[in-house]
Amino acid sequence: MKSVEIDSNAGFCGGVIRTIGTAEKYLASRKGSHLYSLGEIVHNESEIARLSALGLVALDVEDLDEISDASGEAILIRAHGQPPATYELLEKQGFEIIDCTCPVVLGIQKKIREAEGRIIIFGKKGHPEVLGLVGQIDDLQRVRVIESLDEALDMVENDLPSGACEIFSQTTKSPVEYEKVCDLLLSRIPRLKIHKTICSQVANRYRELEEFALTHDVIIFVTGKSSSNGKVLSTLCKNTNIRSYTVGSVGEIQSAWFRPDDKVGISGATSTPRWLLEQVAAYVAGL
Ligand code: SF4
Repeated sequence: MKSVEIDSNAGFCGGVIRTIGTAEKYLASRKGSHLYSLGEIVHNESEIARLSALGLVALDVEDLDEISDASGEAILIRAHGQPPATYELLEKQGFEIIDCTCPVVLGIQKKIREAEGRIIIFGKKGHPEVLGLVGQIDDLQRVRVIESLDEALDMVENDLPSGACEIFSQTTKSPVEYEKVCDLLLSRIPRLKIHKTICSQVANRYRELEEFALTHDVIIFVTGKSSSNGKVLSTLCKNTNIRSYTVGSVGEIQSAWFRPDDKVGISGATSTPRWLLEQVAAYVAGL
């Protein structure tokens, strides 16, 4: 008989729990009201639909250009953080700012402001957290964002920084790849200062998830399509256990993936809500 187990280490990270809790509390205390958020507060379509029903309305930074007077409106800044220019704009427009930037991200932003010489950020170009990190520096000539080991190689061959140089990582990047990038750069930039800025909650999940994927016959990894943490962790599952499948909801699960005596593991990204993991587990158990 098939067994189904939810990964006890899966679920929201501390930064996301804090942000969702703040939004829920605000909306519960003002029934029938709404709360703006700058961008979606969690990279999971199902959870966003639940929060929208409570009154959370996501705005893009571009939407702010249309607003001249936001007096009486509150806007939540999500765990990824924002550059100082966004705070200035929101204050000018009259928004009440509810700042849920994760303390870990705030710490990295501060270190970047204090960094010397060239700054390398290992992260996804255009990712909101990366934009918030880059925005801490006025002189953009000093900052370079690299996404992969290939881009680090390219930098070493074609645009090697001279003088002081510091490297930071987006909090949700792969610790293994960041280590490779740092090793490569350190071999060519002796004065490189390495900041270990991958979130410990994310780093720990790599080890735990690898073990979870190895000890189950099938892995169903549940994540929103826009979650970079979800992409990295689902790839880790696939590389560890060939019978790993990534889904956004129960509608994408196929019964052909399972054999009668399979031990099935259900896991997810740091942005996957627990209720969705439970929904998926109940569905798989009933197949
Ligand atoms: S992954 Fe870590 S750094 Fe990023 S929001 Fe969550 S707790 Fe904060």
